[in-house]
Amino acid sequence: MNVLVLIAGAGPVGLSLALDLAWRGIPSLLVEPLKEVHPHPRAISIGVRTMEHFRRLGLDQKVIDAGVPRSRALDVIYVTRMLGREVFRFPIPSIDELARDSAALAAQTPEIGASPYYKTWTAQSPLERMLRAEVARSPKIETRYGWRLDSFVESEQGVTATLVELATGRREEIAAQYLIGSDGANSAVRAGLGTRMSGRGTLGEAVGLYFKAPALGAHLGVRPGVMYWVLAPGCGGVIYTIDGRDEWVFNRYFAPGEAASTEEPVTLIQRAIGEPLDIELLSAQKWLPRQLVADRYQSARCFLAGDACHLFVPTGGFGMNTGIGDAVDLAWKISARLEGWGGARLLASYETERRPIGLFNTREAADNYDKSGTIFAVPDALEEDGGAGDTARSSVAALLPPKIKHFAPIGVHLGSAYENSSLIVDDGTPAVAFDPVRYTPSARPGQRAPHAWLAPGKSVLDLFGRGFTLLRFGGADGDGLIAAAREVEVPLNVADITDDAVARLYERRLVLVRPDGHVAWRGDSAPAQGRTIIDHVRGA
Ligand SMILES: Cc1cc2nc3c(=O)[nH]c(=O)nc-3n(C[C@H](O)[C@H](O)[C@H](O)COP(=O)(O)OP(=O)(O)OC[C@H]3O[C@@H](n4cnc5c(N)ncnc54)[C@H](O)[C@@H]3O)c2cc1C
Repeated sequence: MNVLVLIAGAGPVGLSLALDLAWRGIPSLLVEPLKEVHPHPRAISIGVRTMEHFRRLGLDQKVIDAGVPRSRALDVIYVTRMLGREVFRFPIPSIDELARDSAALAAQTPEIGASPYYKTWTAQSPLERMLRAEVARSPKIETRYGWRLDSFVESEQGVTATLVELATGRREEIAAQYLIGSDGANSAVRAGLGTRMSGRGTLGEAVGLYFKAPALGAHLGVRPGVMYWVLAPGCGGVIYTIDGRDEWVFNRYFAPGEAASTEEPVTLIQRAIGEPLDIELLSAQKWLPRQLVADRYQSARCFLAGDACHLFVPTGGFGMNTGIGDAVDLAWKISARLEGWGGARLLASYETERRPIGLFNTREAADNYDKSGTIFAVPDALEEDGGAGDTARSSVAALLPPKIKHFAPIGVHLGSAYENSSLIVDDGTPAVAFDPVRYTPSARPGQRAPHAWLAPGKSVLDLFGRGFTLLRFGGADGDGLIAAAREVEVPLNVADITDDAVARLYERRLVLVRPDGHVAWRGDSAPAQGRTIIDHVRGA
């Protein structure tokens, strides 16, 4: 069998990649051992940039609907025990509050206006079920659930892969132009490429207990949160809601040197809640907080994406989000090559653009983890009544405000940029300063083209994606670029924008935006040699 693109692994990254390729008209074959989505929820926090990608695919509202009810506040609360005392709270608006009060909320927190989204609370398992349903509807995607990629051989012309059906042992050879390994932490594609992972390695130990507690919600007060950090000694960890109703996960972290608990899971959950409520354990999964990044992300025709090339500590919620960013970068570049307008250097830029992001984000997550460890070393009086207890809780609360970078790391999500990429034309302006919780909107080449509303419900982001987009402000003359793009059949959509505020945000009268929504070039007039720019940004 011959296919253009073979994708090994239908986790959130492989599913998103197949859908993005399909959106661009490129067919793929998706191979996945699991016939059904793994029920253990794992990821929960969908970053703003990921939501913007899902918006382009028309899936943003479906992602929200697969999560907690829109009315649920997304507060993160530090507690002695879940039904004990509240120590500190990060108030984070619900989807409904954001829709209703966006102007007032943005006046307090400017990052709230930086994207059509702020925080989305959807667990990985319902997200994957929704994505699988979309894949099933797509005429461009063929699936082999219950199959795995066994091995592959790469040549100059393409890749020949051997698939194995798990139930029968049946083997089949597939010839593909490109192979993507989105096959997770134990990636067969990474092993086949002989690529090592480097970094700090395994940083601790944790167990995730997925449980149902129908009576818990009624005890949580008038504004329940979605995530509770439990500080009491012996049950340090985090409990978060999966469905906004009965289902929760307790991730119990073990500090370095603390023996992994052999305590019976239901008793452990009850101790962290602080009441002997009825608990039904749905699944338990050990997992390792890690900081590892693949030394190489690709060969000429094989690419790694997601957990196959970067392993995170979940503190910050970056693993899946970074992987979906990989998928978006790959999707437009592979499409461009298959359609013939992507240059010979285009695919090599996958690693040079995405690996620095993998390195940066895994370090940011590990930094959050290092700083979390100290929080669990609480004073003895933490749970006491009276003055000593109050003092202990206040001393812990005083340490917590910087932790906002775990829960609203908008600078990490929106500030991921490709300023040093060989595909970007530097305009000589200073680099944008990085801050994990602050986002400075900038249309400097390499940056994500900033969001602004053009009309109710219509973002400037909605102009991007199908080929390149040339934003024209004040009737600037972009003909040199338009003609050059036509000459080499680069799809280029031209959008005239008359809104002064958007013009100020973009700072130049012509801005060329890539299919992934990053600025490739900007200037006040099209250069005489428009072809030089077009060739540069398409990797020719
Ligand atoms: C407790 C916890 C909380 C987390 N929270 C967040 C969060 O809030 N936000 C966030 O962004 N990330 C979070 N993460 C990380 C997130 O779960 C992972 O980064 C994400 O699952 C990676 O997706 P993936 O598609 O790359 O890999 P996976 O989800 O691991 O999927 C890989 C797929 O490949 C398949 N496969 C394996 N071998 C083969 C083969 N030989 N052939 C074909 N297929 C194969 C597997 O069956 C699997 O379905 C969390 C992780 C944990 C453990």
